[in-house]
Amino acid sequence: MSDKLKKEIVRYLREQGADLVGVATVKTWAEQGIVPEPYRPDSIWPPARSVIVIGLQMPLPIVETTPSAQHMELYRTCNIALDKMAFDLTRWLNRRGHASIFLSRDGYANIDVLIKKPAAAFSHVFAAQYAGLGYVGVNHTILTKEFGPRVRFVSVFTEAELPPDPMLKKPLCIRCRACVECCPVNAFTFREDALVADYNKRACAERAKLLRDKGRYPCGVCIKVCPVGEDRALYGRDKALQHYLREAESLARNPRDPAYASWTHVRRHGGWPLDEEAFPEFGGKPLKAKRGRGDKRKK
Ligand code: SF4
Ligand code: SF4
Repeated sequence: MSDKLKKEIVRYLREQGADLVGVATVKTWAEQGIVPEPYRPDSIWPPARSVIVIGLQMPLPIVETTPSAQHMELYRTCNIALDKMAFDLTRWLNRRGHASIFLSRDGYANIDVLIKKPAAAFSHVFAAQYAGLGYVGVNHTILTKEFGPRVRFVSVFTEAELPPDPMLKKPLCIRCRACVECCPVNAFTFREDALVADYNKRACAERAKLLRDKGRYPCGVCIKVCPVGEDRALYGRDKALQHYLREAESLARNPRDPAYASWTHVRRHGGWPLDEEAFPEFGGKPLKAKRGRGDKRKK
């Protein structure tokens, strides 16, 4: 178990720009027993002994513009940066005699595949939880103290035995249901008796496909609205929940609602309009106002 090597890895990744770094031992997957065996790191690559998880933040004000071409570019940039960091760390470890591999951040041909089979070969979400970086929330993402769910992860498997970071003892999710209520396709059904909501992955993937066709992928509304994360204070967005809950109804009633002007400005550039949007430059007409998702409850 090399503490020295772990310190060198963390220092190296910090110098490369990693926002979060954590280490899990592969035994955790079997101990926790949640992830099916073929999806565990030592099933995918038997020499693996440790998993190094790297996180990069997604700045909130751009996430708030979703769905937008700018959010899509941020998402792509983040994925590319993560994959490069993981690739570089893999080679850095290999050069030091510690055989390593990495699994890319995403790793699917296109959304059509996810509609047919909405599963990845490996879950970076569980890797991040087991590496002590956060805890899964109702919306099935990892919520972190620093960025809530506005952080993306990639994982490096290594045969080196590294001291693991302690897992968080309890969830960070406050079960506010904002993610459930704001999802544009009602993909979540909240359950009192479960840590996570029931999740219609197919509905979510179909929404992603629609947005991809408009050049404004991914959705990420359930990530935008989550109140957890110190990034909210950084951006002065601690009290944005009502703003999110009213968004769909307000824009259906008035696509030029000044309260959302900065987001709609960004959305109107670089991508195609959605059916429910009214971008006059594309000949769109406002739809009739619909009941807002925020009307489901009073806060
Ligand atoms: S990404 Fe969008 S469609 Fe998918 S669950 Fe989250 S809010 Fe719903
Ligand atoms: S929006 Fe609320 S319920 Fe959903 S994951 Fe975040 S804290 Fe949990």
